[in-house]
Amino acid sequence: MSNDKKFDPENLYEKLMKASNAAELPHFRSSPSEETKVDIRPDKSIAPAKFLPDSSRPGHFLAHPVTIAAMRKDIFVGGAEMFEDLEVLYTCEGCKKELDLQFWIFCPYCEAKPRYK
Ligand SMILES: [Zn+2]
Repeated sequence: MSNDKKFDPENLYEKLMKASNAAELPHFRSSPSEETKVDIRPDKSIAPAKFLPDSSRPGHFLAHPVTIAAMRKDIFVGGAEMFEDLEVLYTCEGCKKELDLQFWIFCPYCEAKPRYK
């Protein structure tokens, strides 16, 4: 195989970012009429802003309670279309992490509320 690349985290990140673009989201596009239902259970051992698949319950996810509280509840309902061109990047004043405000009501890392100008 000529395509024998070694594991490259940056490359992987790029791929993930590309996969996050609306046009490339197979999960959300398979059936537009079908409601995407995601069950997320609180787990304090999960890092902020992360959603991990629940190994014991397929289709379910685990996330820190703060992450669940901070995420917008409508992001899983609207389908892929709403992600397009709506990116609102914001650097948190509390922890200087970059957030996309279309996903977060407040900062999932330090719980600071974004200040809209
Ligand atoms: Zn923050």
